[in-house]
Amino acid sequence: MTELVTRFAPSPTGNLHIGSARTALINFILKSQYPNSKLYLRIEDTDKQRSKEEYINNILNGLKWLGISWDNEPQIQSKNINRHLEIANELLKIKKAYKCACTENELSERRKKINSGEITSKKICVNCESNKDVQSLNKGFVIRIKIPEEGKEILHDVIQGKVEVNKNELDDFVLIRQNNTPTYMLSVVVDDHDLGVNYIIRGDDHLNNYFRQKFIYEFLSWEIPRYAHIPLINGEDGKKLSKRHGAVSITDLKKQGFLPEAIINNLILLGWAPNNQKDEIINLDNIINEFKINNLSKSSSIFSYKKLNFFNNHYIRQDDNLNKFYEYCKSNEFLNQYLQSDKNKITRIFNTYKKNILKYDDIINISKIYFDEYFKISLEKNFDIQFDNLFKEFLKLINNINTWEHDYINLKINEFLNQNNIKFPVLGKPVRYLLTNNYNGPSITDIFMILGKNKSLERLNNYKILNG
Ligand code: GLU
Repeated sequence: MTELVTRFAPSPTGNLHIGSARTALINFILKSQYPNSKLYLRIEDTDKQRSKEEYINNILNGLKWLGISWDNEPQIQSKNINRHLEIANELLKIKKAYKCACTENELSERRKKINSGEITSKKICVNCESNKDVQSLNKGFVIRIKIPEEGKEILHDVIQGKVEVNKNELDDFVLIRQNNTPTYMLSVVVDDHDLGVNYIIRGDDHLNNYFRQKFIYEFLSWEIPRYAHIPLINGEDGKKLSKRHGAVSITDLKKQGFLPEAIINNLILLGWAPNNQKDEIINLDNIINEFKINNLSKSSSIFSYKKLNFFNNHYIRQDDNLNKFYEYCKSNEFLNQYLQSDKNKITRIFNTYKKNILKYDDIINISKIYFDEYFKISLEKNFDIQFDNLFKEFLKLINNINTWEHDYINLKINEFLNQNNIKFPVLGKPVRYLLTNNYNGPSITDIFMILGKNKSLERLNNYKILNG
């Protein structure tokens, strides 16, 4: 192939969906694998009722956030309507399309007969083409393409392999509606051709459209692109991935604190695996090096949120991701308050907990207890007398620590345990509870570090007061 020209062509009828992001990602990878290639972005907004400006912005921002870039300015399909109309008229002129003035009633009668099997041909309109009056109408018609009924169509799809369809299965689909607007089926082909697109990578929900769209190319002697129809992704129950399964838009994942690297890592391993990858962690550069589109499975893949969590936890733990955490905090109402009031504290919390969290928003709940200015121990009665005696000494020890550093505090606590000949849980668990109202959690040294000396003592002293 000469240089590769591909495109991502979302309809702005919703926020950027995980499945669309995967299509965009694979387009981006292919473009990045071939020198001098192009990836265009086209917003297919011809469905004016469902298309919204906010979705366009959402799609553009989502792609940028994922690190998926494209060439030139995004193309807006609705701005090309005149060109689409021109092509439809051209098809009329060369008799590869015809005007159809069937009424809704006529069409639905015919549709019923086709669906019940009474008529085997899929042609929904049979009379208009030969009706001179209809063909000379100036308004009140749609323009239909004229697809031959004989023979077979074969597609050699990069992913799906050889796919065959009998031409008599194909209907004469509408190119121009009654209101003189082009349909998606026409616009997509005209725009792809005009952009010089020679490789179409899109969801396999469009596989059937290929067999219709190809006639527009053929009738106009345009070169037909190569096609790769990517299988859709399903939820763990095998059903189409939807909100029932969890967050399905890139925005929602971003809001919860998933990282782009994790999403990309997870998406690319759906139906594909690198050759010699010992573990599954793979970054975009390595994906670009190793990905082979024809190795992508043609069966639908299962999107696992568990797996996404696993990848996210991995990327969250990387040291260089602290700045990303701050960025996330700024976008989150609660964490931003914490960040503004005590950046060091939220950083210490994050560093202490990052190995255990699955996404950044897990930090919100974790932080509450550390930022609680009115913290009260929730205890009905004191621990036992053995602990209380030990605690008096422990409090003195903590009071006397003037070098508030992790290793030093740890050392002092260990010395204290040794001197008193006790195992850590005897002291550690209750002390952790006094500091956080939770018997489980990070080491008490970590908790001391998060709270700082004054706050730690304040909380411990609460118990002393309780103790009398
Ligand atoms: N606009 C179509 C969609 O969002 C994609 C069309 C295509 O890739 O051919 O499903």
